[in-house]
Amino acid sequence: MRNTLALTLITAALICGCKKAPPTSEATPKKSSRPQIFVTNYPLAYFAERIGSTEVDVVFPAPKDQDPAFWQPNDAQIAAFQQADMILMNGATYSKWAEKVTLPESRMVDTSSGFHDRFIEIKDAVTHSHGKDGTHSHNGTAFTTWLDFDQALSQADAICAALQKLKPESIEMFALNFDLLKRELLELDARMQTVGKKLADQPMMASHPIYQYWARRYHINLKHVLWEPEEVPTEAQMDDLKKIIATHPAKWFVWEGEPAKESVEKIKALNLSSVVFDPCANVPDKGTWLDVMKENVKAMEAVE
Ligand SMILES: [Zn+2]
Repeated sequence: MRNTLALTLITAALICGCKKAPPTSEATPKKSSRPQIFVTNYPLAYFAERIGSTEVDVVFPAPKDQDPAFWQPNDAQIAAFQQADMILMNGATYSKWAEKVTLPESRMVDTSSGFHDRFIEIKDAVTHSHGKDGTHSHNGTAFTTWLDFDQALSQADAICAALQKLKPESIEMFALNFDLLKRELLELDARMQTVGKKLADQPMMASHPIYQYWARRYHINLKHVLWEPEEVPTEAQMDDLKKIIATHPAKWFVWEGEPAKESVEKIKALNLSSVVFDPCANVPDKGTWLDVMKENVKAMEAVE
């Protein structure tokens, strides 16, 4: 009896709610007719927005405080990816989550397929943690592909071609937008080439194993530790660093983000100066991907 009453009340509530709702055309904002382009990191979002402009909706669902490479989308986010008109993947073993779910292959674009024969394989990667992101290893291939600006250009090119295929009526607009972006990527590349020539293979250190393609493209003689910019290195970590620089006499230490003051002082005692080169895998606090890259390159231009 009680159950019947409860059911009746629920049914009444549902009917009531239904009646109250205004016609759907007013209740929900009109679903955009623009194609939904889902992306797996911020560099791809930036390129897709630059090229697609007003013709597409770019959706990058990873939270701002997580590394998109190791981020795990929830079920609703995975479902949204599955329903997207297009999914832009970074490739090179990025997005570890995508290996465990089924995504519509016909709508997926592997933006780094143009240089897959040049991926750098990582062997014997050490498992470590990044604050609250939990533990991971960088096993597989190096995945920070876009820090080689020539590879970034190839990824942007793949995005342009995919958008043109998706929306042929906007071919010319996409091509024009891509050309502007291309010019800026070429300029970054040229400036970094000059930096590489100036540094002439001098040994350098990096805070994390994410600079492989950058180091290869610009001839930077780089070894890495497994540090976080916001965490002050422990004595054991300092000992590891000392061992490396005994045979790799670096004068500069490249950080992924603004380091803690104490960290800067600690490595200064080993005659290492700090410079920030932010990979910008996620949305920056201010500016765009291009702004961050310009800052990075500027910082490297000041390295002697
Ligand atoms: Zn890591």
